[in-house]
Amino acid sequence: MFIEVDYYINKAAYDTVNDTSYCGLQPYKLYTTLTIKTNNMIKRRKLKGGARAWTKRIDLVFQKWVKLNDTNKEGYGTCCTCSKPLHYKEANAGHYQPRQFRGTRWHEENVRLQCIYCNQWLAGAQYAFAKFLGFKKADELEELSRVKVTFTDEEYADIYYKYKELILELEATKV
Ligand SMILES: [Zn+2]
Repeated sequence: MFIEVDYYINKAAYDTVNDTSYCGLQPYKLYTTLTIKTNNMIKRRKLKGGARAWTKRIDLVFQKWVKLNDTNKEGYGTCCTCSKPLHYKEANAGHYQPRQFRGTRWHEENVRLQCIYCNQWLAGAQYAFAKFLGFKKADELEELSRVKVTFTDEEYADIYYKYKELILELEATKV
């Protein structure tokens, strides 16, 4: 019997599940036990809606991570292209190479804290963005963005949970 298997944030629990139950006999039983034991994030490795659904989910956590990561513990940072001070709750996560390019859509250097004006009215202020990154890095990102990439469900899941967990860590550091 195969069911969509959930993994758990707890490493020990993950290993247990990973070890035998994935193709094993009583996934439901383990599921219940581990859910109670870890009382934590349920990690779904497959998603109805496939790539499109993963993309939507990852965008949300990744962009939130960018905003939390580019701000101090009070939640303030500066726009990467105009240096205006801003709180992460009123900021955007601006892309240097646009989101349509999968190779850099979730690249940590390609996506930075940006004010709404620069991101939406100046279409990302790409030249200032390149200056902020340094032109060498900007060129690298541009090249990388053109590489065609595809992800498996497993890879999507890895990216998604990585940032979901990092968000929890970062949120705990904010006052
Ligand atoms: Zn700005």
